[in-house]
Amino acid sequence: MPFNRPWAVGTELGHIGDAIAGGQLSGRGPYTDRCTGWLERRTAARRALLTHSGTGALEMAALLAGLEPGDEVLLPSFTFVTTASAFAMRGAVPVFVDIRSDTLNLDERLLEDAMTPRTRAIVVVHYAGVACDVDAIAAVAARHGLLVIEDAAHALTATYRGRPLGGIGDLAALSFHETKNLIAGEAGALLVNRDHLVDAAEIALDKGTDRRRVERGEVDRYRWVALGSSYAASEITAAFLWGQLEAADDIARRRWRVWDRYHAAFARLEEEGLLRRPIVPAGCRHNAHMYYLLAADGAARDELIARLEERGVNAVFHYVPLHSSPAGLRHGRAPGELPVTDDASGRLLRLPLWPGMDDADVAHVIRSVHEALGRPAPAHEAAAAAADN
Ligand SMILES: *Cc1c(COP(=O)(O)O)cnc(C)c1O
Repeated sequence: MPFNRPWAVGTELGHIGDAIAGGQLSGRGPYTDRCTGWLERRTAARRALLTHSGTGALEMAALLAGLEPGDEVLLPSFTFVTTASAFAMRGAVPVFVDIRSDTLNLDERLLEDAMTPRTRAIVVVHYAGVACDVDAIAAVAARHGLLVIEDAAHALTATYRGRPLGGIGDLAALSFHETKNLIAGEAGALLVNRDHLVDAAEIALDKGTDRRRVERGEVDRYRWVALGSSYAASEITAAFLWGQLEAADDIARRRWRVWDRYHAAFARLEEEGLLRRPIVPAGCRHNAHMYYLLAADGAARDELIARLEERGVNAVFHYVPLHSSPAGLRHGRAPGELPVTDDASGRLLRLPLWPGMDDADVAHVIRSVHEALGRPAPAHEAAAAAADN
């Protein structure tokens, strides 16, 4: 059972053929417009721009934040590399803040202690599609005049108190990498939630030119007007993505089915103190992006992964903390120890979760986790797995 298998809906090829017949394959054509319109409706973003990756969207956000070398950005260490590197590439200093032990999201109570007069922005990650404490973080940001940037790579369609993640911060980055809920191979989107940032975002996407003004008939040739780069996704990518977005509700249902089965099946192991399951605070509706478990300690985690591998189940650890990584040490700093980050990174494993998993696949993973821990699986899951053998 692979940890992830990119799952195509079946309509993607037809859309790509249509894009080819339409005669435009560079970015910002009709499929891009469909995708960005969908994203704007679903997230309430003021403007969505399709990019070649989530990383590209984060780099755009860092550019639009107007950071000067030496400016500081508060962000978690327990995250993907480019949450930090996008800002380091602007010469800003990632300042790594510890996470909460329940959601593994940035701990809002530690933000003010990590600030200095150079702090400009807070970058949050909604880990596993579970919202960070958005209201508390927005209040801190408002008090200190900081931008809030959401790395919402995990979080499309998840909500916080009814508000869609990605539509809340000043800017947000989404990813459609093949490991995310909705995929296009490599792609992403920048969500712009403030009117005054829309023009600058469009210019950054257009390689630093005012090409859009030509298209609107406002000027007759485009010029280099600001820093930007080649961030747009092609129409081939957008056509693939459109197939996924049309099927988003079906994909979500399939992911939820796996997530809910895991969560119910592991309740007793949690009661017995063998594992900890994900915690979803009231007010957060997640999107079944990921199912993770926290083992008792690092050795137990490594042994569990090895025993699952023997049973053909590919479970994987997650982030190696950035604050103690070679480039994290060089480009960033941590105001102190990050004990929760180190602890979670050492004990966490993620289970296979993709839309094409059938009932027997899920039962096999559930039974394998129980076997690996020497505990009996819930009777109906054991029967479902046996029926498959
Ligand atoms: C996937 C991911 C990214 C990067 O997205 P790409 O599309 O792969 O560039 C950034 N941050 C987080 C938290 C991610 O999970």
